[in-house]
Amino acid sequence: MNASIITIGDELLIGQTIDTNSAFIAQEFNKAGIWVRRRVAVGDNAEDIETALNEESKQAQIIILTGGLGPTADDITKPLLNNYFGGKMVMDPNVARHIEYLFREVYRRPGPITERNKKQAEVPDVAKILHNARGSAPGMWFEKSVDGRNVVFVSLPGVPHEMKGLLIDEVMPRLLKHFKFPFIVHRTAFTAGMGESMVAERLLDFEAALPRHIRLAYLPSFGIVKLRLTGQGRKEQQLTEEVGLQFDQLTALLEDIVVSKTDEPIEKIVGHLLLKQQRTVATAESCTGGNVAHWITRVPGSSAYYNGSIVSYSNIIKEALLQVPATTLRTQGAVSSETVEAMVKGALQQLGTDYAVATSGIAGPDGGTPQKPVGTIWIAAGNQDRIVTRLLQLRFDREQNIEITTMQALLLLRKVILGLEG
Ligand code: AMP
Ligand code: MG
Repeated sequence: MNASIITIGDELLIGQTIDTNSAFIAQEFNKAGIWVRRRVAVGDNAEDIETALNEESKQAQIIILTGGLGPTADDITKPLLNNYFGGKMVMDPNVARHIEYLFREVYRRPGPITERNKKQAEVPDVAKILHNARGSAPGMWFEKSVDGRNVVFVSLPGVPHEMKGLLIDEVMPRLLKHFKFPFIVHRTAFTAGMGESMVAERLLDFEAALPRHIRLAYLPSFGIVKLRLTGQGRKEQQLTEEVGLQFDQLTALLEDIVVSKTDEPIEKIVGHLLLKQQRTVATAESCTGGNVAHWITRVPGSSAYYNGSIVSYSNIIKEALLQVPATTLRTQGAVSSETVEAMVKGALQQLGTDYAVATSGIAGPDGGTPQKPVGTIWIAAGNQDRIVTRLLQLRFDREQNIEITTMQALLLLRKVILGLEG
């Protein structure tokens, strides 16, 4: 079962809005066993939307469109679909009543409802109307025979929370009834410490021996590589077992670099460890400016193991709040093994935790010297007994340097907690 997602709106093409709708739809489809084969973004332009409809319906049995349903002149999707499917526009009394209700009871707008908003209750008579509980533009379900195949087209509003509500409440149940789907099973391993092509080298034979219905994907980011096995089949239990066996083989081949055998971010992995060992952690951050703290605290429940942070961006704060010795800062510099070690010590003491993590470096684009070029970053993690420091030599832009440093700092913390470092 193939699906295509067409996202509509000039804002997507100029990069003003990031297309989060496609990712959400693709995730829901994946869970249901629907394979998203292509994602297409087009502007608010009739010719382009029509071309996309023609092209995608050659391949896919399900086409989801989002966007272009607003009441303003730039949103042209609804009349366009009406023409495309040969319908005529009619007033839908249910939608009209819902719009009345929204404007009077929910938005509490004084005065009469504008013609523009009333017109949102006009829908193509060839569409099945999907109730949008969260907004005024309804979803629309069309069917058409393309080369002898029945193709379903679903048009949804672009506003993400309206789109999500419609997809979950209206579209998924209808699709599941309409088609019979195969199952999809994913298993993901998180690895660190080896580049993508080296990992691929090691998995050459494994990958070649995979059966056709199980595929391996590499997902590199911020100095780590995630490996995902995806299997498709009719029998759920058999498929789960089969993918599980392949996954065991895969992780055995990568034993030295596997961080986790679940699809979880590093901050969650570290959180689990700290919870299990009933230990606490604090952060002392210079070049990451609080990003390590941000990652740790985006995990719900992190207050159980995270005490807080000292963002010691200046040397004055490193000295005053973290007790980094002035001589260390003077002789070794703020970007040094000695400084991050002292920052960990200071954080352990000031924030009263079992573990602490520290970062200090030159994130760029300025501030580099011949001895310490941009991307020279020291990280440290440790406890009262032992502190481990590492030098990173990164060569990316400021934002990426900060993200990679955050990832590496948390990876180092994990190793320290597990006693794996050195
Ligand atoms: P529309 O249905 O075209 O009136 O879209 C309404 C709003 O939804 C737009 O202003 C965008 O900010 C947002 N939006 C539209 N398409 C997407 C998308 N693919 N991902 C995220 N937001 C979107
Ligand atoms: Mg729009």
